[in-house]
Amino acid sequence: MRNTLSLIALSVFAVSCSTQKTSATPQKPPIQVEEKKETAVKAEPVPGKIVKPQIQHQGDLDFFKINIADAAKNDNTISHGSIVSAKAAGYKISKEYFPAVGQNFRQRYIILHYTALDHDKSVRVLTEQSVSSHYLIGDQNDKIIHQLVDENKRAYHSGLSHWRGVENLNDSSVGIEIVNTGFTNGATGQREFYPYPEWQFRKVGALVKDLVDRYMILPENVLGHSDVAPTRKQDPGPLFPWKRLYEEYGVGMWYDQQVMESYMNQMDAENFYMQSTDPTFIFKYQTMLKQFGYGLNPSGSEDSDTKKTIEAFQYRFRPEKATGSMDVETYAILQALLDKYPGK
Ligand SMILES: [Zn+2]
Repeated sequence: MRNTLSLIALSVFAVSCSTQKTSATPQKPPIQVEEKKETAVKAEPVPGKIVKPQIQHQGDLDFFKINIADAAKNDNTISHGSIVSAKAAGYKISKEYFPAVGQNFRQRYIILHYTALDHDKSVRVLTEQSVSSHYLIGDQNDKIIHQLVDENKRAYHSGLSHWRGVENLNDSSVGIEIVNTGFTNGATGQREFYPYPEWQFRKVGALVKDLVDRYMILPENVLGHSDVAPTRKQDPGPLFPWKRLYEEYGVGMWYDQQVMESYMNQMDAENFYMQSTDPTFIFKYQTMLKQFGYGLNPSGSEDSDTKKTIEAFQYRFRPEKATGSMDVETYAILQALLDKYPGK
């Protein structure tokens, strides 16, 4: 069974490479395609008209690559690999009516992690144990990104997790692990995080951009492990450059600076400090953090879960000063983000 799956994965890889139209020198496909070649149909939805895709056959596998529905609704049917079909004994599976319009991608989130291990240990743990990720960004400054799990399958990277009312994000996410030491505890007990080299950031940027484009992943669904499990996890940590990911690759969330500053100007720092211990105000910002996406239960008291959630928020949106306490600037950033990416 394992061998069969490996063969399928290899075939998929071979096909997805051979159907790329960007190569200047067309290469001979490794296996002869049995039926006529896929025509270059632009993936444009045609209102009121369904364009039937041409299904390619290669060995025992079927493939198609065309958009037949409304891409704006994450409701298209572009296939990026083989069509997995049953083999019912004694029967033929017909694709005469394939594909139905009513379908979408299961991949709705991207979750970034650091491994907190060196390269070799990361590979061993992520391939031989009960944790895994779809992709691994290693410790070499080269042109390689490692894939460990098929994008259509679940990888085990997020564990107990929550974002915007959705639990168990392994079901619907693509997990990316980055080889990085994580943090060590400094002399006074504070966490000292390790930076990401530029080339590692570039690999993450190119990979996330491709995933966002192919699966039409919403900006608010490009997340860190600490976003979806803030009471347990700190990765990818305050040194991961989320702002640059937003500015240079156009993916993920960032707030509008002017909107944030206008919220800052509306508040008086001293008054803010006075009201920051008021249970009504604590309940209010806890509700806002929950609305933004965190799995936090508003309690009206600045409990441990609340502090860890604020810290996770600061790691991501105000990494230079992660205190775990709500302050004027953190509150202004939260308001600006909620304006731009309204939660439920
Ligand atoms: Zn993680």
